[in-house]
Amino acid sequence: MTPSKTSFYQYTLLELQDLFESNHLPKSGPLLLYNWHHKKKNISPCHDDLAKLSIDFVEKTFDFELPKIDTVQESTDKTVKFLIRLKDNLKVEAVLIPFNSKYTICLSSQVGCAMNCSFCFTGTQGLKRNLAPEEIVGQFIVAQRWLSENRPLDDKILNIVYMGQGEPLHNFDSVKKSCEIFLVRHGIGIAPHKITISTAGYLPGLERWKAEMPKVNIAVSLHSTIKEKRDKLIPINQRYPIEDVVAFAETIPEGRTRFVTYEYLLIKDFNDTPEDAHATGTFLEGKNAYISLIPFNPFPGTKYLRPTWDEVEAFKIILDGYKIPTLVRKTKGDQILAACGQLNTKINKEV
Ligand code: SAH
Repeated sequence: MTPSKTSFYQYTLLELQDLFESNHLPKSGPLLLYNWHHKKKNISPCHDDLAKLSIDFVEKTFDFELPKIDTVQESTDKTVKFLIRLKDNLKVEAVLIPFNSKYTICLSSQVGCAMNCSFCFTGTQGLKRNLAPEEIVGQFIVAQRWLSENRPLDDKILNIVYMGQGEPLHNFDSVKKSCEIFLVRHGIGIAPHKITISTAGYLPGLERWKAEMPKVNIAVSLHSTIKEKRDKLIPINQRYPIEDVVAFAETIPEGRTRFVTYEYLLIKDFNDTPEDAHATGTFLEGKNAYISLIPFNPFPGTKYLRPTWDEVEAFKIILDGYKIPTLVRKTKGDQILAACGQLNTKINKEV
């Protein structure tokens, strides 16, 4: 019986090098393969520059299958949302967000999510399963190939954010591996400070991030510093209170490249009042904190509302008074339900 093949896209460069070495194959093979399949986006599994022995090994060991693009939705602001079908027919979404003719890609880390945040469309699905590293890397590669074919003049993806479906730190091993794969210079080659992992504040994952991860950034979903409100918005706050999460974030040495930032989702008449802004300001004053304000993006069936731009601005002005650097994030892709928190593969066909 021939052993079944494994996905090439799950291997970090180090793992591939170890594999080649233990099979007495030339050391140059893994770099060539990374260059060919990750960087040059080549579809065929073989390679002229590889030694004959390596070619045989590659053919018998790896499969090069990628997740399939099921549907593509393009918004007039150039945002692109991909519905991506995995091997077992479950689906996730990835979104390309344009800026100056380049793109940030928003990746999913799980099918569904276990965090059950009350404002998030994905959470209504529950957690189906974790994504494997090749399924995370695969989202990037299929989106990149789509760009090269459809928008060849502006096909550069410069940033990666793990802000799609799922809690990335709840699927730590796959997310870590995918970051290691993205960083390889001979391959996709994204710098660590261009990668951001967004978390609901899953403290065990943050501890592992500090100890084990390449120096990628973290964004913590804050959304309220008032316990009763944050408990309602992000139920894991009851287990890992935001005070502990922020205290932990404060132990990260301020590096030139590694940042912890905070995202604050503004929901009309719930957490967007002057009282909320002052509570946030008092809580974060003097700390190493940068805040992105995100006006709530509505989705079918939600009870929450989006504040007006004047209300968002008023909130920002109060935070300015506490000298906390604050940015209002402009919403992109909401026309096609591709904005933060609007990703839900279960009812995708109906919206
Ligand atoms: N689980 C991770 C990453 C996924 S969500 C996390 O919680 O951070 C990515 C970002 O989108 C988070 O800041 C999240 O709070 C925000 N978000 C979720 N639902 C949203 C919605 N309906 N409108 C605006 N932002 C939302």
